Amino acid sequence: MPNFKTDYSNQNMFVPIIIDEQLIPGTIEYAISHIVDNNLDLSPFDAHYHNDKNGAAAYPPSIMLKVIFYAYSLGMLSSRRIERACVNNVTFMCLSGDERPHFTTIAAFIAQMKDTIEPLFTQVLMICDEQGLIGRNMFAIDGCKISSNASKEWSGTHEELRRKKEKLQRASQRIIERHQSQDSLPNEVIEQDLRQKQKLDSSADKIGAFLASTKDKLGSSKKPVKSNITDNDSAKMTTSKGTIQGYNGIAITDDKHQIILHSQVWGSVGEQQTLKPAVLALKEQLEKLPNSSERTTKFTADSGFHSKTNLKFLSETPYDCYIADSGFRSRNPLFQNSETYQTEQAKKRKKRSKTGKTCYSISMFEFNQDEMTCRCPAGNMMRLSSKNAVIRGERGAQFCGYLNDCRQCVHQPLCMRKQPGKQVGRQVFFIYKNTKDFDHMQAMKDKIDSPEGRRQYSKRLGCVEPVFGNITVNKQMNRFTLRGQEKVNAQWAMFSMLHNMEKLRNCII
Ligand code: SF4
Repeated sequence: MPNFKTDYSNQNMFVPIIIDEQLIPGTIEYAISHIVDNNLDLSPFDAHYHNDKNGAAAYPPSIMLKVIFYAYSLGMLSSRRIERACVNNVTFMCLSGDERPHFTTIAAFIAQMKDTIEPLFTQVLMICDEQGLIGRNMFAIDGCKISSNASKEWSGTHEELRRKKEKLQRASQRIIERHQSQDSLPNEVIEQDLRQKQKLDSSADKIGAFLASTKDKLGSSKKPVKSNITDNDSAKMTTSKGTIQGYNGIAITDDKHQIILHSQVWGSVGEQQTLKPAVLALKEQLEKLPNSSERTTKFTADSGFHSKTNLKFLSETPYDCYIADSGFRSRNPLFQNSETYQTEQAKKRKKRSKTGKTCYSISMFEFNQDEMTCRCPAGNMMRLSSKNAVIRGERGAQFCGYLNDCRQCVHQPLCMRKQPGKQVGRQVFFIYKNTKDFDHMQAMKDKIDSPEGRRQYSKRLGCVEPVFGNITVNKQMNRFTLRGQEKVNAQWAMFSMLHNMEKLRNCII
């Protein structure tokens, strides 16, 4: 015979909760509660409340902040889940003072954070500085692409969206025509078709309203780029895990304790263009902090931020910069025999080339800049197709192999990815080496290839990457829940602020 313990689930019980004993120093909930109660100036929130004469009393911003930050620290982004936690989780009850805000109140409070997050972020940064968590030895910038609260299927240029709308209208019209030609359709089929038609019409109307209220988005080359109906500030971007509709969350961190000094999200802007505004914002932020440093701070960034314009801009700042370029690893002798690196490079090349083939690199061609000539690996002279070509912002000379040479060439399978076309043979592009801007590029190459440059740049990884790991993996912030750049920016700043508060956890006792 089995012997089970008695089931008392039908008996009532009283559970005593001593609030002070739930929030233990050294925990994130204690740090959040302490910082919100003692260090943050919450008066900017007052502007949002006009209920002194009539209307119900509002939940205090301190309660809302504590509950939201603690929920975010647990990876809880949904307002409904936060509402439920305030009802059945003891720590949430303690932070909320046993108040139970409705999920719409929580969502509205998060959405209005766009107006108040900036001073709060700076105040937390000031505490970090007081506690000596900001070293000012090295800053690093990087970006992390995160999905937006928008479907990538609802994106396209205005022309593409117009075609999509017409397609939906045609599909809706086909349903009507089918019904007109077949009178005796069963009721069930008619109802299903009507529902389908309603869906198609509402989608077509949605696109129509969007087209009427917006203009085509233009890219950096002034050509139309894809807009998005649900969140037009977000953009389609390629990540290592495929294409997403999202934002690029930029952060600048300090290397001592990975404190985030500046955070900002960008939609339809290339990563290179985010460096200048980020560095200017960092300067402003540092001016607000009480401690200053006599030392020259180092500044590192990966090849995503490498461009002539950025190097020129950084050379005018007081930072000692180390910015890698795309050839940095391949020039490093340590990576010459690295199997992992070579395999990764081969995979990337294969992905870039549709046929999966690699071809002769530019270093195999002899370019003479004084005479403006180029000789290919087969020893043939090439035709100068442009003296002043600009490719990816670089000015240089473009050469093209003569068709007759390339068609009969024994090197052709190795030199070209595809058979020569009707008009062009192998094309190569050489960047001019005597321009003023090039000096910045060459100077940075020389600097970062030196043993000291490599040593300093190697610190970048530990300075900034763990921050993104903490936010996207530990806090599960892998999809923004708000729409529009301002609101998304506030949510990204809230996660950055939370990351900084976590660092303060052991300092606040
Ligand atoms: S394919 Fe054309 S460019 Fe390439 S080596 Fe042969 S002749 Fe020269």
